[in-house]
Amino acid sequence: MELTPRLADRNSAPTTIVTAGTAVFGDGGFALVGGPCSIESAGQIEAAAAGVARAGGAMLRGGAYKPRTSPYDFQGLGDAGLPLIAEAGALHGLPVVVEALAESHVALVAAYADMLQIGARNMQNVPLLRAAARTGLPILLKRGPAATLDELLFAAEYVLVEGNGKVVLCERGIRGFDAQTRNVCDLAGALRLKELSHLPVILDPSHASGRRSLIEPLVLAAAAAGLDGALVEAHPDPSTALCDAAQAIDLEDFARIAGRVRVLRSALATADREAADAAEYDTESAIR
Ligand code: PEP
Ligand code: MN
Repeated sequence: MELTPRLADRNSAPTTIVTAGTAVFGDGGFALVGGPCSIESAGQIEAAAAGVARAGGAMLRGGAYKPRTSPYDFQGLGDAGLPLIAEAGALHGLPVVVEALAESHVALVAAYADMLQIGARNMQNVPLLRAAARTGLPILLKRGPAATLDELLFAAEYVLVEGNGKVVLCERGIRGFDAQTRNVCDLAGALRLKELSHLPVILDPSHASGRRSLIEPLVLAAAAAGLDGALVEAHPDPSTALCDAAQAIDLEDFARIAGRVRVLRSALATADREAADAAEYDTESAIR
């Protein structure tokens, strides 16, 4: 195997900015994507869209096809979910991201979504990666639960070699031994990805932790650390969520997180400006 990916490598291109409709990843901002694990009804996804838009979220998420551990659990609405999320997004001015679980879904998902999600379980599904890439849509590529960073970058490479440079990488937790959190949130790994690649990197704290109580601090950590955004499961009524209820936050929490991210980023920008001003003052005094 070649040791470094050719196109995803940091040195192969300037920092990549990926746009999905009005959502922007990698421009120095922080794109907060929110919405339920699965699209459940027109009313549910519309309420989620309203809450995400009100909070200033960048994009609406929702799954139509769910890769559940058990075949007896809710599998998503399937094709019928796609027009529901597209309409909810359009109504509230939000672009939408939906997972294509199989190659056979790609064309239909692409007809309704602004961005295609490739799920963790499919990170190395090469025919799916190639088919998704060929739609020309931006791709949200999740790290596999047991994939190394290099394997994730080579998975991205499969999209890039198809001529589609619009890839956003997503850390969503890797398999660990401790059941106290659903997965191990590899924040350091996500930051390392930004050193290794020019592609934007976001964090999914929902699948990484599996716990509602940990979503806010993890999003703040991602924003403070300089990641490019977060993908957060938010539901109008988490207690009734048909999928991943324990990690779903409500829309009030989503709005509070969005507000705190804005304040945090502006405080960091102020600190950077003050440091730059102080350095300039020092240089001027040295010249005089
Ligand atoms: C999801 O985003 O709902 C999902 C199924 O995520 P993952 O592929 O990371 O498990
Ligand atoms: Mn989920």
